[in-house]
Amino acid sequence: MKRAILLRFVAILMLALAVSSVFSYYFIGKNMLKSNRESMINTIHVVDYSLDYGGDLQMQLSRLHEATMDEKSRITIIGEDGTVVADNEIEQVDSLENHLEREEVREALAHGSGFATRNSESLGESMLYVAVHSKEGPYIVRMAVPYTNMLDYMILIFPVLLLGTGIAFAMSAVIAVRFTNTITTPLNEISREMEKVRSDNPSFTFKTYKYKELNVISATTMKMSEEIREHMDRLEKEKRIRQEFFSNASHELKTPITSVKGYAELLDQGFVKDEAVKKDFIARILKETDNMTNLINDILMISRLEAKEAEVTYSTVRMVPLLTEIFESAEPIAAEYQVTLHKECEPVSIEASAKQLRELIMNLVSNGIKYNHPGGNVWVEICSKGTDLCIRVRDDGCGISREDQERIFERFYRVDKGRSKKMGGTGLGLSIVKHIAEFYNGHIELESEPGKGSCFTVTIPENQTKS
Ligand code: ADP
Repeated sequence: MKRAILLRFVAILMLALAVSSVFSYYFIGKNMLKSNRESMINTIHVVDYSLDYGGDLQMQLSRLHEATMDEKSRITIIGEDGTVVADNEIEQVDSLENHLEREEVREALAHGSGFATRNSESLGESMLYVAVHSKEGPYIVRMAVPYTNMLDYMILIFPVLLLGTGIAFAMSAVIAVRFTNTITTPLNEISREMEKVRSDNPSFTFKTYKYKELNVISATTMKMSEEIREHMDRLEKEKRIRQEFFSNASHELKTPITSVKGYAELLDQGFVKDEAVKKDFIARILKETDNMTNLINDILMISRLEAKEAEVTYSTVRMVPLLTEIFESAEPIAAEYQVTLHKECEPVSIEASAKQLRELIMNLVSNGIKYNHPGGNVWVEICSKGTDLCIRVRDDGCGISREDQERIFERFYRVDKGRSKKMGGTGLGLSIVKHIAEFYNGHIELESEPGKGSCFTVTIPENQTKS
C-alpha cells in the first residue's frame, strides 16, 4: 500500500511540476518578447529623433547603427508608400521590393507601431520586426533583430528551471515519504493487532494515533472483540447450564424408572403372592409415575418460560379469590405437616395468567409448609407497592444457609436431597418461581436465617403489556 500511495503521490507531483514549468516557460518567453519589443521601440524613437530626414539617411543610419546597436540588428527607413528609403545593411535600396504589405509596416501605419516575426528572405534567419511611425517625418522606422536571440535566452533559463524543478521534486518526495509513513505505519500496526483475532483468546492493544479515523478503527475493533468475548462467554455458560440440566434431568428420571421397572419385574415373575403387597407395589409404581410426570411437566414449563414460548392466557387476575383458592388446596398438606397458614391480601388485580400466578404462589407456600416443623407458620401477604404487585411468603421453618441461598434458584438444586425427594420435590420449584417472575419482568428476593425461617418476596410490575 505504501508503494501505491507513494507512486500516486509522485505521479501527481510530476504532473504539477510539468504543468507549472510549461506555464512559467510560456509566460517568461512572452514577457521577454514584450520587453524586447519595448526596448526596440525606445531605440527606434532615439533613431527617429536623431535622424535628419532632409540629409543622407543611408549614411546616418550606418553611423547610428555602428554606434548604438549590435551588429546582428538591422534598421530600415520606409516611406509611407512602402518604398525603402534607407537600410543600414543594404546600400542598393532601390532593388528592395515595396514594404507596404509587411505586417509590421501596415500596423505601424494604422496604429503608430507594429511588430511581426518571420523568416527574413534577405538574411535567411528568423527575425523579430518592430516598426514605428516616425514623429519627425512621413516615414516608418523599422528595426529587426534575430528572433533566435530570444530562444537562446530561453535555453539559458532552462537549466535554472530544471534545477528548481529538481529541488522541488526532491523536497516533495521527502515530504511524501513522511506523509505516507504517517498513514501506513498506524495501518500496519492496526492490521498486525487485528491478526490476533485468529488466536483463541485475542487481546488487542492499540496506540493512540494522530488521525481520528484510525482511532475510530482501533476503538471499534476493541469494542467488537469485547462484545464477541462476552457473547462467547455467555454461549459457553449457557452450554454448560444446558449440559448440567440434561444430565440432572436424565439422572432424576432414571431413579423412578429403575424402581418402576423393579416393581413391575417382581409382579411379572409372580413371586409376590400377597395381595396387600401387590397393591403396595402398584401404589409405589403409580407414585413414581406421578413423580415422573411432575418432573417432566416442570422441565417443560421451565424450557417454555426460558424461551418465552409459554402459552399464556391473559386475564384480569384478582388476587383475593386466587389466594383463597390456593389456601383451600394447601390446607390439607398444611394440616398433614401441622403448619398454620395465614393470609393478608389487598384487593389488587393484575393482567396475567392465573395458572402461572397460582403455580408461583403454590410453590412458595408448599415449600414454606414442607421445610417447616410441626406447629410452624406460613404467612402470605399480597399488596400493591407503587407500580408493583408484591407477593411475600414468609415462614418460621428451618431457614436456609447463606451458601445455599446463592444456589437455591438453580435447577435441581436441593439443600436436603433426601427430604425433598421424600416430599415429592423435583428441585425445580424455585427455579420455576424465578422464571415466572422474570417472564412478567419481575424478580424474586430471599431473606433467610437457618433455624429462624425464610421470606421470599416476588415483585412484578402491575402494568403488564400482553404479548
Ligand atoms: P424442591 O422440589 O426440592 O422443593 P425447590 O426448587 O422448590 O425444590 O427448592 C429447592 C430447595 O430449596 C429445597 O430442596 C429446599 O432444600 C430449599 N427450600 C425451598 N424453600 C424453602 C423454605 N421455605 N425453607 C427452607 N428451605 C427451602
